[in-house]
Amino acid sequence: MHFALVSLFPEMFTAVSDHGVTGRAVTQAVVTISHSNPRDYTTDRHRTVDDRPYGGGPGMLMKIDPLQQAIAAARQVAGADARVVYLSPQGRRFDHSRAVALARETALILVAGRYEGVDERLIEAEVDEELSIGDYVLSGGELAAMVVIDAVTRQLPGVLGHALSAEEDSYADGLLDCPHYTRPETYQGKTVPDVLLSGNHEAIRRWRLKQALGRTHERRPDLLEGRAMTAEENELLAE
Ligand code: SAM
Repeated sequence: MHFALVSLFPEMFTAVSDHGVTGRAVTQAVVTISHSNPRDYTTDRHRTVDDRPYGGGPGMLMKIDPLQQAIAAARQVAGADARVVYLSPQGRRFDHSRAVALARETALILVAGRYEGVDERLIEAEVDEELSIGDYVLSGGELAAMVVIDAVTRQLPGVLGHALSAEEDSYADGLLDCPHYTRPETYQGKTVPDVLLSGNHEAIRRWRLKQALGRTHERRPDLLEGRAMTAEENELLAE
């Protein structure tokens, strides 16, 4: 998977390229990353990338030209057919199913806005999809792009150490994950549930499924609405 990043602050992306699971994916070349900075495509001596909005109002907008050229440079690396995603608070809400779908692409061009955003005509001309990471406004699209990179990278084959761990995470099967415990066996008087010490794999599987169902029912009942439940899940939820 190639991520071609279009941003005024490429150095921010070391948070994903140099650390943890995503950093390992880069080291192992499962993921490659390239940068195009709109500032490198300016022609004036101040290297101006923003301009005042027509009609007045506060703030500035990213200029079309440098941004368009940065996207063109990203296409050269990522391929002409690479999907262009603009991170925007007005986009479709990014979620697990979108991460799984985007992980099937071979390359993504992620465009991070700054200031009050970008000229609408640039979006119409260049962008395939707008994605939001939540109903709040960030100062720039870089953090949002990193959220997408991280969530998508976790879905790529071979990235996570344990083959099943992405499938067992919250949302993968439409449920929140069950609670987990590690040593010590007793912490502040609280002990690990007996079943997890029993060595009985079937009992542990059923306990975890029941916990995941109960937790989802309690915290995110919306996830259960319309979800096709198995006979075992119905039985455990009713217990
Ligand atoms: N004026 C814009 C609006 O209200 O829709 C907000 C612009 S915001 C200050 C600057 C940039 O941050 C945006 O162009 C976008 O790239 C990014 N951004 C802000 N909030 C975001 C969110 N919730 N999800 C994804 N990107 C976001």
